[in-house]
Amino acid sequence: MPPVKLKEGSHDGEVKMVDRLANSEANSKRIGVVEGCFGAAGQPLAIPGRVLIGEGVLTKLCRKKPKARQFFLFNDILVYGNIVIQKKKYNKQHIIPLESVTIDTVPDEGDLRNGWLIKTPTKSFAVYAATATEKSEWMNHIAKCVGDLLTKSGKAPSGEHAAVWVPDSEATVCMRCLKVKFTPVSRRHHCRKCGFVVCGPCSEKKYLLPSQSSKPVRVCEFCYVQLTSAGGGYAPRSDSFGRQGFNSNLSDDEDEDDSSD
Ligand SMILES: [Zn+2]
Ligand SMILES: [Zn+2]
Repeated sequence: MPPVKLKEGSHDGEVKMVDRLANSEANSKRIGVVEGCFGAAGQPLAIPGRVLIGEGVLTKLCRKKPKARQFFLFNDILVYGNIVIQKKKYNKQHIIPLESVTIDTVPDEGDLRNGWLIKTPTKSFAVYAATATEKSEWMNHIAKCVGDLLTKSGKAPSGEHAAVWVPDSEATVCMRCLKVKFTPVSRRHHCRKCGFVVCGPCSEKKYLLPSQSSKPVRVCEFCYVQLTSAGGGYAPRSDSFGRQGFNSNLSDDEDEDDSSD
């Protein structure tokens, strides 16, 4: 289902439309239905002033492969989850505050068409709509919601965002050393700074990226040098981030991917 179309027209007209919806019974009902679909594991979604703008299935590019996810666009948050039963039951709810979202179109490539990036300080990923029309509806509505929020708060658009991870399938060799071939033994890792697929030896370092995690996260050698050079921001954790921490986290990419998708 494509996003609900707001009335075309002037900026003021659309805002009024949203205000009217916010107080309407229909809006509360629709938000209640969404809450119900996520069940007890989901967060409460009904708060004063929140409006459900639209909803639909988008293909989210995950680490291993593209997967269908149900998305709900509200005027202040974007919510998505796994589809258990279409239009009835969703789980693994994710809530993204729109204020920190920036979007970017993605050129069509092969089967992956009508896509754009959803970038936030904590997580960034690509999604794909079924048609070019749906894509532009989604992008326009998201951009408008973000714009309205920033106008209201007086804040600047989010400058920082997490790297979009390059899917595993895009790299048969390490994207940094270009030598190490990935195998079941020589596993793929993701640099949290650049999003490249890299080998273990090229990503032995960890670095504190506070917007992504309270603990230092895996970065590639290239990014580590950049981050630790003058003006690179946060000071790295001590060199003692040695084998122990690294070994205990050998499967961190895997776990995080599972939990985030
Ligand atoms: Zn490498
Ligand atoms: Zn990197």
